[in-house]
Amino acid sequence: MKLKIAIQKSGRLHDDSIQLLNDCGLGIRNGHNQLKSNADAFPAEVYFLRDDDIPQYVEDAVAHIGIVGENVLFEKEKSVDIVEHLGFGKCRLSIAVKKSDDYTDANFLQGKRLATTYPVLTQKFLDQNNIKADIHEISGSVELAPGIGLADAICDLVSSGSTLFMNGLKEVQPILQSQAVLVKSNHLDEEQQQLLDQLLFRIRAVKKARRNKYVLLNAPNHALESIIKLLPGMRSPTVVPLAESGWSSVHSVLDEDEFWEKIDQLKKAGAEGILVIPIEKMIL
Ligand code: ATP
Ligand code: ZN
Repeated sequence: MKLKIAIQKSGRLHDDSIQLLNDCGLGIRNGHNQLKSNADAFPAEVYFLRDDDIPQYVEDAVAHIGIVGENVLFEKEKSVDIVEHLGFGKCRLSIAVKKSDDYTDANFLQGKRLATTYPVLTQKFLDQNNIKADIHEISGSVELAPGIGLADAICDLVSSGSTLFMNGLKEVQPILQSQAVLVKSNHLDEEQQQLLDQLLFRIRAVKKARRNKYVLLNAPNHALESIIKLLPGMRSPTVVPLAESGWSSVHSVLDEDEFWEKIDQLKKAGAEGILVIPIEKMIL
């Protein structure tokens, strides 16, 4: 039995998907010219697909699980379950209009023509706002549509906004925040579910490790109490004496959200020689 995993063949999600699976110890070789590949170190097989096809493959249980953007998943409206948010492939689906347009709210779109590759999500947004507009579904280069007179506005994926800007457009209304998610079929048998649980355990350990850093620092013993208060650690920090009397080394783990703030506070509390080391896996 092998767990069949669908990931994007090439494109923005490919590298991060492979990286995640390999950080989980699957041992997958790169598949740019392959349609599938066996994992060397886990009972799994990876299918390389267009991202748009992944929800269907997983719904049909041709692939047991898949990695796909929420934008594609919600557009396709397939019946699959999200098991984990993966923290990469972050972008948003947004309405954009010409820079010179005076957009104040969604009513601007009333009676207008909207070009998009996401007709389902665009229509939902229009319906929620009681707007009637013409949706032109196109398969690519959506940001050109207003400039060539095909549409008055677009609904497209944005990350930095620079592509919009280069095409004389501005983002006015995000309609969906998206990231890559792990999805699973509703028809997994017990053995497949067990393999998924094993993989999920590893994915969570990798995700947690990526968010955290291992921190080592030296401190005079009189500063230890305030330093330990700043560093919760997994259970509590490790404190070991240095060869020089009156000094200790403190080891702990810090979350990236509070990292810089904590480092500043640690320095003020008397910490010296602070080392910060990436963590590979983290199991609580
Ligand atoms: P495919 O050939 O697989 O159909 P594609 O051209 O549809 O590829 P990509 O451009 O590779 O898709 O994007 C894949 C996914 O990456 C998107 O669906 C989205 O979830 C995510 N993504 C992240 N940032 C962006 C961005 N700035 N623009 C487009 N997609 C992004
Ligand atoms: Zn696609």
